[in-house]
Amino acid sequence: MPATTRPTQAYWADEIAGQAAGRQVVNDSKTPSGTVHVGSLRGVVLHDAIRRAVVEHGNEVEFRYGIEDLDPMDSQALLTPDAIEQYMGVPLAHVPAPDGSPHPSYARHFATLFLETFAALGIHPHLYWMSENYASGAMDPYIERALHRADMILEIYRTVSTVNHPEGWLPISVICENCGRIGTTAARDWDGKEVSYECRADLVDWATGCGFRGRVAPFGGRAKMVWNVDWAARWGLVGATIEGCGKDLATAGGSRDRADAISRRVFDREPPLNIPYEFLNIGGRKMSTSRGEGAAAHEIADILPPTIVRFLFLRHRPNKAIDFDPSGDTIPRLFDEFDRIADAVAGRPGRGELPPDPERIFALSLSDASADPMVEAARFRPPFAHLAVLLQVPGPDIMDLLAAEKGTPLDDAEQDVALERIAAARAWLETLAPESARLSVHFDTLPAAAGELAEAQQRYVAALADAAEQASPVGGEAWQTLIFDTARAMELKPGEAFGAIYRAFLGRANGPRAGWLLASLSAAFVITRLREAAAFGGQQ
Ligand SMILES: [Zn+2]
Repeated sequence: MPATTRPTQAYWADEIAGQAAGRQVVNDSKTPSGTVHVGSLRGVVLHDAIRRAVVEHGNEVEFRYGIEDLDPMDSQALLTPDAIEQYMGVPLAHVPAPDGSPHPSYARHFATLFLETFAALGIHPHLYWMSENYASGAMDPYIERALHRADMILEIYRTVSTVNHPEGWLPISVICENCGRIGTTAARDWDGKEVSYECRADLVDWATGCGFRGRVAPFGGRAKMVWNVDWAARWGLVGATIEGCGKDLATAGGSRDRADAISRRVFDREPPLNIPYEFLNIGGRKMSTSRGEGAAAHEIADILPPTIVRFLFLRHRPNKAIDFDPSGDTIPRLFDEFDRIADAVAGRPGRGELPPDPERIFALSLSDASADPMVEAARFRPPFAHLAVLLQVPGPDIMDLLAAEKGTPLDDAEQDVALERIAAARAWLETLAPESARLSVHFDTLPAAAGELAEAQQRYVAALADAAEQASPVGGEAWQTLIFDTARAMELKPGEAFGAIYRAFLGRANGPRAGWLLASLSAAFVITRLREAAAFGGQQ
């Protein structure tokens, strides 16, 4: 894109970092209520990009990440049938880990899976576990303040959100001393030292309390503040100055508005700067953690290289919804889009409009924050879909083919990129790739489908054989150009040209990018086969 039309708008993370004065604390958190879906990484990657941008703008910054492991287990789908009665409503930190897990609790098990995914993305926040902060007494001053100002909190719920709690309601949940549930208790009657509570069978519809009534001092881990109040208290605990949240929480009168008001009026503290962000939709649907559908974060992170996962979230502004269909062609397209941005950064702009600030998207996507973006962008990167074809075609060594395509041997770093992508393509083919990406070349005999070629297609494959003999194309791009140019010269539509090639080599009407398919085969075989198809076509 010419420099004169390049948008001057700053990258969103730089806009935020540019507004921040002095030391910053970026905060985020998660309830470890089960396998975490890949969309949950959006907030994590977004907060890490802000952290990096703040550092680059010259301010000190800490990234804190809270695990809300005193929250109640509220999804039956995540428990074995015999565990439902026992554990629904119990704090996640007190629910046992799934069978075979080395972790001491359900919360630790699922939080660790998610946290390991961050580390692979180059994201290393300073963690805190809410079960520990409550048990240590760190939350006690906030509990005491929230109970003293319970009427103020009731009024905030009523005026900010039109949520009416009954008179006498207190903003804490006690852990039942009889059954251990936290999701089923209602507290009343704070006298400055203790509260009364009842573990009710009918408080929520997803868990059944035991009916116990008691009176306790709600400190030292015996109770937890209700969620909005707990959120505001956490900001005070860690000193949060920047925290974005999903758009479902950021609606007018929603959870974030309540927590902001509680922070200001109950805890006398300005809430952190909010960056509302959109969802990642899997196949057009918003996915929820608790239903456990779609792609688990750790599974997608096992397939995609870390830089590509970061890029998935950072190439768009936070307010844009991202569609991600792991079983379609989203993953090959994601690599192609990364390569397009990288090429533009390296001064090789290709087709299509660029987003504002491609340099910043590229730099912040690199999982190694210390890497030089210009050096990384200039590297040779084999297209993902090309590798997916090469992996399915017996033939010469893939690294030799890539060296031929590049024109010189791959350096060490380029070999690393290629190996990472080969592993990704292999994993993709084994798990998520659609049928159209799977192929089997008919080496021994011309497929019967070659008989379906129209006369124009017969002339086309003959002309392509001649052109290939003359031009000796090397690499997928050179083959792709030859395929297009030959079709254009004969005024044949590209779709008909590709259809002829797929029928001649794969025995079907569709396939991967034809240039890469032909580049992965020996030129002699390609030319012979094209001529066979030219002679055979039109016979059925
Ligand atoms: Zn109980």
